[in-house]
Amino acid sequence: MEKSGQRVPFTVENIKKCICRDCPVQNTSQCIRKRSEKAKEIMENIESGLVPKPEDIPGLYCATGVVTCKDIDTSQMCICGDCPIWEEYNLADGELLGYYCRDGKAK
Ligand code: SF4
Ligand code: SF4
Repeated sequence: MEKSGQRVPFTVENIKKCICRDCPVQNTSQCIRKRSEKAKEIMENIESGLVPKPEDIPGLYCATGVVTCKDIDTSQMCICGDCPIWEEYNLADGELLGYYCRDGKAK
């Protein structure tokens, strides 16, 4: 873990690995849908070496923390346990076990 307490770094590589886009907690949200369209455009056009703004990316909440969209459905099951980032950063060993969009970033 880094000294800053940032367990998972917010990088383009990690944004691409994140599977939040397939998660039932957020895929009925209109707010997320709008953000996803914008994010797709940003990711397709991002110049190498640049990193998008966290608030434009509807995922990687283990790095960025609570989502600002209010219409997510946290009665559904978080799928972070199936994500490659989960393994890579050993998130099963963290303070929070998924639902980073609801509870804040991984520590
Ligand atoms: S662990 Fe969860 S929040 Fe983090 S990148 Fe994977 S799916 Fe996204
Ligand atoms: S952090 Fe977990 S609950 Fe939230 S959108 Fe990602 S996979 Fe779903």
